[in-house]
Amino acid sequence: MTSLDNFRLEVRQWLETNCPESQRQPIIKEEQIWGGRRRIFPSPDARLWFERMRDKGWTAPDWPTEYGGGGLSAAEAKVLEQEMQALGCRPPLYEIGLWMFGPALLEYGSEQQKLEHIPKIVRGEIRWSQGYSEPSAGSDLASLITRAEDMGDHFLVNGSKMWTTQADKADWIFCLVRTDPKVPKQEGISFLLIDMASEGVSTAPIELISGESEFCQTFFEDVRVPKENLVGELNAGWSIAKRLLKHERKLMSIMEMMVEKEDETVVELAKRYVGVDGTGQLRDNALRTQLTRHLMNSQAIEWTSYRLFEQHGQVIKDAGLPLIMKHISTTELQRKDELILAIMGNRGLSLKDAEYSHKEQRLVKNWAYNKAQTIAGGTSEIQLNIIAKRALDLPGH
Ligand SMILES: Cc1cc2nc3c(=O)[nH]c(=O)nc-3n(C[C@H](O)[C@H](O)[C@H](O)COP(=O)(O)OP(=O)(O)OC[C@H]3O[C@@H](n4cnc5c(N)ncnc54)[C@H](O)[C@@H]3O)c2cc1C
Repeated sequence: MTSLDNFRLEVRQWLETNCPESQRQPIIKEEQIWGGRRRIFPSPDARLWFERMRDKGWTAPDWPTEYGGGGLSAAEAKVLEQEMQALGCRPPLYEIGLWMFGPALLEYGSEQQKLEHIPKIVRGEIRWSQGYSEPSAGSDLASLITRAEDMGDHFLVNGSKMWTTQADKADWIFCLVRTDPKVPKQEGISFLLIDMASEGVSTAPIELISGESEFCQTFFEDVRVPKENLVGELNAGWSIAKRLLKHERKLMSIMEMMVEKEDETVVELAKRYVGVDGTGQLRDNALRTQLTRHLMNSQAIEWTSYRLFEQHGQVIKDAGLPLIMKHISTTELQRKDELILAIMGNRGLSLKDAEYSHKEQRLVKNWAYNKAQTIAGGTSEIQLNIIAKRALDLPGH
């Protein structure tokens, strides 16, 4: 038996002993545990599960132990992930800091910044938000104009960030700011960490078509930011920004695995709404074909992303891969939503009418919400442009 096999047995045993039964059920959105000073636990079991995983550093299994992580090798972290999946364990913590900011800070942050921020992410104590986009800088992100002026002992920040997910619930925000307006646009950007409790920071929620209000516009008015909150060199924030986006796209390429799990598969849903014939087959032939195509695509995407991320570990050197995976998986997620609506027929018409069940409303809400997935983290049009140029080396126009 190899040491990895031994590790697998230990992990399996530990999970069986420590993961409460209620935390082995499919996760629903309302029960996800997000970090932060205002974090709330949906149940005592959820809290217990979170605390047990946190204390082992397994909220960030492959981050170094000196910053509170689990210190596992990539192979061990994979084993943990597989064993958690086999047992149906819920993720113990949802957090932008874990998925995107932490990996970038581990790579680019100073020792002092890592010691200050990484353990708090692992322990779910601080919730992070992302301050990249602006009202006139989304796809063309490098055109951002939020300004950070060097005032000697601090920066003075003025401007606003758009579509900042959960910024009203976040404790800190990592921002791209303009520190030199005179040089070519990508060369005058810095990466700055801002405490949301600083004087001059405010947020205004924005409503989505799903009726939820997950994101905000965040305003900065004469906000004083200590110099030690600059990550990397002054005016060298663009490289950090791009590296962090790679982590974001990796996350979005496994979005299907992250989103709320339904208690029924799409096939079961189709059988229930559309019905089956005497041989047990779906009544609608055309729907059966669409469903089969979707199931094949999803399986191919799942296996391909496992293979890619297993081969490349945390650091994916080929920048084209996360882009391709993000594009195809978010597109397939939307196809699935369309299919679900077609299956539900006239039961899939309402977001909030009490005549429809809670689940029906939720499925319609998911359909509306997931429209955003081909926009967030870079729109599909932009992804395709970059894939054509960088990954496929196609000639430009
Ligand atoms: C759910 C969600 C969460 C988000 N969370 C955050 C967050 O937390 N923090 C943050 O900073 N941002 C966040 N964003 C913002 C996101 O990064 C931007 O919406 C995205 O980059 C697109 O920018 P935009 O909205 O300004 O659209 P625009 O850039 O104005 O694009 C509008 C349309 O024009 C197309 N287009 C633009 N340029 C080109 C081109 N050169 N070639 C072809 N087509 C083009 C686009 O594809 C799009 O269809 C989030 C967005 C969503 C939907």
